[in-house]
Amino acid sequence: MFCSKCGANVQNGATFCSACGQPVPAVGVVSAPTSVTPVIAARPRVEYAGFWLRFVAVIIDGIVLWIVGAVITFPLVGAMGLRGMMRGGFGTYGSGPATPADVLPFVSIIFRLILISLVLRWLYYALLESSSWQATLGKKALGLEVTDMEGRRISFGRATGRTFAKIISAMILYIGFMMAGFTEKKQALHDMIAGCLVIRKT
Ligand SMILES: [Zn+2]
Repeated sequence: MFCSKCGANVQNGATFCSACGQPVPAVGVVSAPTSVTPVIAARPRVEYAGFWLRFVAVIIDGIVLWIVGAVITFPLVGAMGLRGMMRGGFGTYGSGPATPADVLPFVSIIFRLILISLVLRWLYYALLESSSWQATLGKKALGLEVTDMEGRRISFGRATGRTFAKIISAMILYIGFMMAGFTEKKQALHDMIAGCLVIRKT
């Protein structure tokens, strides 16, 4: 199948041309690249979601993850406080310096909390963005969708890659995230790494 506007080869299942953004009709129209004609009354081109929309989505998702995380880790944090009181290991209850045996349970619980929050973030983003929603709650609320370069739904594996590539986007002073504000297809660095787009449903 070829794009009716620019003649580029369009892959099966694509919802828009990855070269020019021209929407592809749902019913496959087979046309040769020689029959390229100017499109007069085209549907709106794919609209990429810009930095600020995505920023608001991140905040909504942050709140959701914070609430879910608090509910999941509540028993662990409770156990930590209880153990602390039983051992008399904290501040005013304390008697003498803490020994490694006092500290170890706390280190282990904190390690588990970090692990749980990592797994939670991974599953939240990867499961929802590879689902039929193609969006987290924040993106859904704002009408945004994650797609591959041809506008198709992404797999769980690709969504996982995109999620973990955010670590790289964050490591360079979050410039990887800010790139969504000025790259051609408004891709953040993790979108480029995973071959993804974030689009606005029109
Ligand atoms: Zn095209």
